[in-house]
Amino acid sequence: MRIGHGYDVHQLTEGRRLILGGVEIPHDKGLLGHSDADVLAHAVADALLGAAALGDIGGLFPDTDPAYQDADSMVLLAEVSRKVKGRGYRICNIDTTVLAQKPKLKPFVLQMRKHIAEACEVSMDQVSVKATTEEQLGFTGAEQGIAAHAVCLLESTHKGKL
Ligand code: MG
Repeated sequence: MRIGHGYDVHQLTEGRRLILGGVEIPHDKGLLGHSDADVLAHAVADALLGAAALGDIGGLFPDTDPAYQDADSMVLLAEVSRKVKGRGYRICNIDTTVLAQKPKLKPFVLQMRKHIAEACEVSMDQVSVKATTEEQLGFTGAEQGIAAHAVCLLESTHKGKL
């Protein structure tokens, strides 16, 4: 068994779409970034890479590379998932928390779980998405940005050795 952790932050700004867990969420601001800035997808990808000690998404998909300009982060997550599985790991589960003051994310949680599960080729009951505010404290509370945490558990498919 291997545990992984991922954390990401993106700045909220006007004139950008808000995409979380592959779901476009109606809001007056969106997340700023080189890709689609899907902070939740990035945290999940980093948790998977971290569990397998394969680095991070910044190293895999550099934000200086024009190939990833406005990239669909669910495509990047699918690539990370394939890479981790290619090293002989099975994904047991993924648990996440999104920290956002606004908008209310609860109505989109099921759809986010579905998209993440599809990208990682696991079932929806292996993927958890939770959302919380930080009670108007800090940068998420001030609606300056959105943060996401993710943890995952991988199991080696090679019996007896990692
Ligand atoms: Mg990011």
